[in-house]
Amino acid sequence: MQDLISIVVPVFNEQHNLVPLYQALQKVLTEYEYEIIFVNDGSRDNSWKVIQELAQKDSRIKAINFSRNFGHQAALTAGYDCAQGDAIISMDADMQDPPELIVQMLEKWQQGFDVVYARRINRNDGHLKQLTAWGYYKFLDAVSDVTMPRNVGDFRLIDKKVLDELKQCKERSRYLRGMVAWLGFNHTFVDFKRPDRLSGTTGYTWKKMFKLAFDGLTSFSMFPLKIAAFVGMFVIVSGSGMFVYIAYDALIRNVRYPLFKWLTTIIYIFMGVQFLLMWLLGEYIGRIYDQEKGRPLYIVKETLNT
Ligand code: UDP
Ligand code: MG
Repeated sequence: MQDLISIVVPVFNEQHNLVPLYQALQKVLTEYEYEIIFVNDGSRDNSWKVIQELAQKDSRIKAINFSRNFGHQAALTAGYDCAQGDAIISMDADMQDPPELIVQMLEKWQQGFDVVYARRINRNDGHLKQLTAWGYYKFLDAVSDVTMPRNVGDFRLIDKKVLDELKQCKERSRYLRGMVAWLGFNHTFVDFKRPDRLSGTTGYTWKKMFKLAFDGLTSFSMFPLKIAAFVGMFVIVSGSGMFVYIAYDALIRNVRYPLFKWLTTIIYIFMGVQFLLMWLLGEYIGRIYDQEKGRPLYIVKETLNT
């Protein structure tokens, strides 16, 4: 039995890119059995029509049509849920993820790697996007409990067993590249230069990008919850300093302080206490969130004599 390869492609307004992508994939995958899963994420152009035509001609093309735009990560998830393959490759529809690279990814997979990331060695994004991406990943790396692979997007190959585990992660705010990293397994990289998109414009508005970044941060780090602890500590320490200062003035140097000045300092200190209690609440909420995500406690790669 030959291995089945699944290609998962989220599609948002990509009408002119789909046929070139399909042709390129066909060329690359001649030696394999494969299925291509297009997930139309509420495109407002003719993408779905193009997909329908392709699916009519080729039964290896599976297609899912969303009722509206649910976003890239949701589309990827739908594709993953439908994929039957032994190796599953997710890639963009706009030819920015070169289909030729799939050959190298499959080679790595056959060598025994369970996750193969395509890593871009250049970014032709604008300076602002490059800078924010760099800062974001540095920050995320510092505060999260998994090491996020650098310079990878959602172009990757995962083995069937990784997908099975991924399906156990039921969280609603999905940051798939983080989730795959969280799962572990042997991973490796293949490098490529990322070209410009073939046609059309990016579907990633700043708003969508911000949402993705925020999902990544909140799904993999409790750091935001701890901010209240830092604020609280700072307020209490500085408030206590002030209190000591006016107490010294009043008791030793006999300066008369009106009542409201004492009260202001005390209220300030209690504000700090409130922040600390908020942090405590946050810790509980974080644990509820963690529980609610329902991720498995551990992922087994292999067992012996069990
Ligand atoms: N995409 C999607 N839903 C969206 C936005 C984008 O399914 O709401 C798809 C899009 O069709 C493409 C992939 O996600 O296949 C990456 O999007 P895009 O190329 O616009 O992002 P960029 O490469 O500019 O980061
Ligand atoms: Mg793109």
